[in-house]
Amino acid sequence: MSDTPQQDLDAPVTAIRGIGASVAGVLGKLGIFSIRDVLTHYPARYEDRSQFRPLRTISDGETAVIAATVTTVENRPVKNKLVITKVTLDDGAKGVATLTFFNTWRLKAVFEKLIGKRVVAYGTVKRQYGGVEITAPEWEPMEAGEEGDSLSIGRIVPIYPGTEGISQNRLRKIIHEALERYADDAADPIPPSLRIKRRLIDLPHALRRIHFPADMEARDAARRRLVYDELLVLQLLLAERKQAGKRQTGIAFADVESPLREFAGALPFLLTDAQARVLAEIVEDMHNPQPMNRLVQGDVGSGKTAVAMGAMLVAVRNGYQAALMAPTEILAEQHLRNLRAVLEDSLNIRVDLLTGSIGERTKRAVRERVASGETEVVVGTHALIQEGVTFHRLGLAVVDEQHRFGVLQRAALSGKGTNPDILVMTATPIPRTLTLTVYGDLDVSIIDALPPGRKPVKTHWKHSADKDSVYEGIRKIVAQGRQAYVVCPLVEESEKVQSRAATELAAHLAEHVFPELQVGLLHGQMSSEEKDTAMARFRANETQVLVATTVIEVGVDVPNAAVMVIEDADRFGLAQLHQLRGRVGRGQFASFCVLLADPKTPIGEERMRVLTETGDGFKIAEADLRLRGPGEFYGVRQSGVASLLLADVLRDADILAEAREDAFALIANDKTLTRAENRALRDAIVQKRRQSEIVTAA
Ligand code: ADP
Ligand code: MG
Repeated sequence: MSDTPQQDLDAPVTAIRGIGASVAGVLGKLGIFSIRDVLTHYPARYEDRSQFRPLRTISDGETAVIAATVTTVENRPVKNKLVITKVTLDDGAKGVATLTFFNTWRLKAVFEKLIGKRVVAYGTVKRQYGGVEITAPEWEPMEAGEEGDSLSIGRIVPIYPGTEGISQNRLRKIIHEALERYADDAADPIPPSLRIKRRLIDLPHALRRIHFPADMEARDAARRRLVYDELLVLQLLLAERKQAGKRQTGIAFADVESPLREFAGALPFLLTDAQARVLAEIVEDMHNPQPMNRLVQGDVGSGKTAVAMGAMLVAVRNGYQAALMAPTEILAEQHLRNLRAVLEDSLNIRVDLLTGSIGERTKRAVRERVASGETEVVVGTHALIQEGVTFHRLGLAVVDEQHRFGVLQRAALSGKGTNPDILVMTATPIPRTLTLTVYGDLDVSIIDALPPGRKPVKTHWKHSADKDSVYEGIRKIVAQGRQAYVVCPLVEESEKVQSRAATELAAHLAEHVFPELQVGLLHGQMSSEEKDTAMARFRANETQVLVATTVIEVGVDVPNAAVMVIEDADRFGLAQLHQLRGRVGRGQFASFCVLLADPKTPIGEERMRVLTETGDGFKIAEADLRLRGPGEFYGVRQSGVASLLLADVLRDADILAEAREDAFALIANDKTLTRAENRALRDAIVQKRRQSEIVTAA
């Protein structure tokens, strides 16, 4: 064993026998720079090439590996300079096969050299004329390479994520070579006690078996071990952050009872049980001297803002200020209206707004009031975390719709006070397993019920050919006194192009579809005055149809709006669609959402179907994760989930739970991981942190 194993693994790939600068360059395209990267370039899948099937025994439609001798090769030109290459094989046991390839002129010469030699091919078999045909198979000559074919034939063969300029065969050899020379040097970060407790195989064995397993059980055991490693390190990072937060001294808000009573008296409605429970959890944190770091999850319309308001009142009545940061100006203004209605009008608390567009003079005045403490509650956008903003005594920072903000903005807001309590609210429910990773350093409260009387939004999926009848439906509902949103198709290019699309759609609808109605317009390129006016007119039912971009996605609350039509709905994310339709169903009226979409893939259709079948944001999030993978979720990038190579937070939920439990126990017993048995883990964390800094910076 080497004295400095870590160093060896961090050496560049050129340290491996037979790898020069040019191969290293190709490997770099795969993200492989060090020996460690080679060892963790895990197979994308495996092929069982341990059993070659006699051609006679394979039936139509089966996927199989065959080995047979090349007998003829033929190129058949087809129109437009295209070519089909047909290779016939004979397996010497009365079996004949044809391999068919498209548009690779040079293949003919390759196979001609192989006439009389055996090749291995893998693919889906079509049975015809007494023989079999495999179209576009994976294949390779049996006698290739200098050291025989033990890596590619007659075993379970790893298939790697590849790139132009390097064959699977070559990749296998490089990885095999690295395993032979370095796998034993890989310091095992998992303390033996945990390895025994969780029945995990050791690291060198795991690395060998993930690449070249004897059978799939061996592969599974290896994978389990390596997944555990990844998740343990991730959870340790979170556990450390959480513990560090808890060791700080924050604010202990002494009087919580009387502000809560006062709050109940001022609210125009009763809190739901779910709201009351979550508010109690928050207030207990606030009463406690450790700084609060709590996430409130709740579906669209579950009443998170009301809960936050109660917490803010507690802060104010204890002599502190509270801040609420929202991702958009529209939402900030909406919050301002709601907060003023309760906190200012009934309780005489000074509530101010701080956004980018309130005008320099007003801004200066608000900043002064915030600095002097005259402003007790301030609502705003990221303008709140800008430099010139100082608080007299910030006690509670609420961050709404967290998925729009990063960890850094959260930290910036909390930095405006001295260890203030932090409340993060998100209306994009994410599956529990992902919560444990993305928000793993926060305590979590869930508002799992909607206020009473809320009507579920009935969702329909229609093809664009039915557009006219959908518009007719809008007309009927408007005739009953209700209002409608039409969300225009998502255009990726720019906000500008998107806004132009919305403007055109609004003009079209006003002129040709709803000439008898007033059609309003709301998009991101409008000034905030124009936006205000558009919202005010819609709120007053001066416009009946509001054409909008996703700027209405969060927060907008017009109870009389009972229909939403989303054009080209399949271009949006599932969570986003759910968020959008949350804009209707806010009053006592039966409400509808129509998804206009012609999805082109089964997954696209499945996505539309999920929305019509459930109104439960958590179920939708699970489906979204299942259909798209975790990489697409907000916040996931910073969280380290994106850097997971093997682990799949959905599929590996049970391993995640184990790793989380173990990580928090490790940190509780050895908070800096300095005990001898935990040192290698410490190194792994340092390594990981360096990696994720690179990821975040990129
Ligand atoms: P969220 O922020 O979770 O989407 P809001 O806090 O904006 O939800 O609440 C949505 C609407 O429901 C608001 O109009 C709010 O006044 C109302 N609301 C909140 N809680 C209750 C409740 N317990 N009973 C009745 N209405 C409520
Ligand atoms: Mg909200």
